[in-house]
Amino acid sequence: MIIDIDRLTEDGLKVSKEFEFFSSELVEENAVFLEPVHADITVRRVGEEIFIQGSITTRLSFVCSRCLSPFEFKVDSGFDLVYLPEELELVKDQLDEEDLSHLFFYSYKIDVKDVVLEQLNLTFPVRPLCAKDCQGICPMCGNIIKEGNCSCAAGDIDPRLEKFKDFIRDKR
Ligand SMILES: [Zn+2]
Ligand SMILES: [Zn+2]
Repeated sequence: MIIDIDRLTEDGLKVSKEFEFFSSELVEENAVFLEPVHADITVRRVGEEIFIQGSITTRLSFVCSRCLSPFEFKVDSGFDLVYLPEELELVKDQLDEEDLSHLFFYSYKIDVKDVVLEQLNLTFPVRPLCAKDCQGICPMCGNIIKEGNCSCAAGDIDPRLEKFKDFIRDKR
């Protein structure tokens, strides 16, 4: 969905739309979309600056980087961006400190789909985790610890002492 900047006004343009992307377009290549990305966006032009405000929501299936289990990742994220014409990219160094985060548009066009994809990728964690405290896979038995199939770490007992635990229990 390409916006012609010359036709934009200060009142702006409202876009409420679903976008479909391929997993290969994501920074998280193991992610699978569970639903399309819904975006509500307002694009306004003030002078030479283009303001893009909006929010995106979607659900994806991620793979936990510790236990390798799939889990649902919800995106509900807002953004507030300023785009400047490409000519200003040449003088980027001279722009105000505040302007350093500015993005640039080229040929007086902005592809909203690209903006949505970029913002979506920014919401992804560097290392996806199914839970903050995911304990991953047990290095001793190879089972996923949270599924309860691993008893190695229970009570922090050194596995070499495990047989003595049974010995003591039997004695009681
Ligand atoms: Zn996990
Ligand atoms: Zn274990």
